[in-house]
Amino acid sequence: MEHSLFGMNREELAAQMPGQPAFRAKQLFEYLYHRREERPETLEDCTVLPASLRGGFELPLYSTRIDCIQRDSEGSVKYRIILNSGEPVEAVVLVDGKGRRTACLSSQAGCRMGCRFCRTAGLGFTRNLTVGEILEQLKWIESDSGPVSNIVFMGMGEPLDNLENLLSAVSILTDEKGFGLGRRRITVSTCGLAEAILQLAEAQTGIRLAVSLNSALPEQRQEIMPVERKYPLDQLKESLIRYQESCGGKRITLEYVMLADTNISDRHAQALIRFARGLKVLINLIPLNGSEDLPYRVPAEKACARFESLLTRAGLNVTRRLSKGGEIRGACGQLAAGKKQQKSD
Ligand code: SAH
Repeated sequence: MEHSLFGMNREELAAQMPGQPAFRAKQLFEYLYHRREERPETLEDCTVLPASLRGGFELPLYSTRIDCIQRDSEGSVKYRIILNSGEPVEAVVLVDGKGRRTACLSSQAGCRMGCRFCRTAGLGFTRNLTVGEILEQLKWIESDSGPVSNIVFMGMGEPLDNLENLLSAVSILTDEKGFGLGRRRITVSTCGLAEAILQLAEAQTGIRLAVSLNSALPEQRQEIMPVERKYPLDQLKESLIRYQESCGGKRITLEYVMLADTNISDRHAQALIRFARGLKVLINLIPLNGSEDLPYRVPAEKACARFESLLTRAGLNVTRRLSKGGEIRGACGQLAAGKKQQKSD
């Protein structure tokens, strides 16, 4: 159930304006999403509609509000956004060397996947975000930072656990009259919900897929990521092969959080090399963003470099993710808006 007009498609907007000609909903759709920087703040600003209509909606334009903005010295910005039900969620903007802005969006309040290295998991699960709540994050980000060029669903929550709303959000993001973003500029990152990966393949969205692998040894992956019990590595790999076929063989990213003395031995490298066989992948290595409340430690650089070189020597494409946003706890796995923030925040 939507709480605001923002997030609605043309048909849903039309249903909010009974008796009005169809072009009004089209106009409002473009007006809400297409203008990237100066979006309206209130319904009264929606001058595209006749004044008599602006006061006649049951729902507000937005249902979330911005609570707190934190900036770090590298240009990363973290936005704390409050849902109408009171829960906070976080969205982050990261800037790369070329000045490109990537928005990292949340898909759920909390998360139910329970990955043991992730701080969001510690929050437990509250609920799925609506389409509006997903897209309003961008409204707040863009009105503060300017237009973003890329979107990654790597914030709080498991996006494929909220597939229906994710797909609706993607369709507004990629609509030429909507946000107008290229499909390849959107990446969805999943802990490996194999069935939902197949559904995503069927939906033919053309967006990029990233999978948080983190161990290619089934027993250990179960320990680190409980989702392995429901969707074991074999089934996950099968779904990735199908996804890849569905999108013309485009490369999938395998994300791998490196945990000290846990998942970066030579044996782990061999298992990862085996898993990658038959897939076209980019391996993205991420040193753990540590926190005292996590059961894992940050690995030494030497151990990371050895792991990386074993993969590279096997012919795999490997990149190392530079941790950005650490100063503001906006880095991967550090989003925990509901938790009492540490003093350093
Ligand atoms: N649920 C989705 C998206 C959120 S996590 C998923 O699992 O992919 C986004 C990325 O951050 C994932 O690749 C995850 O493995 C990584 N991550 C989580 N906790 C981390 C931490 N403490 N340090 C570094 N990366 C982490």
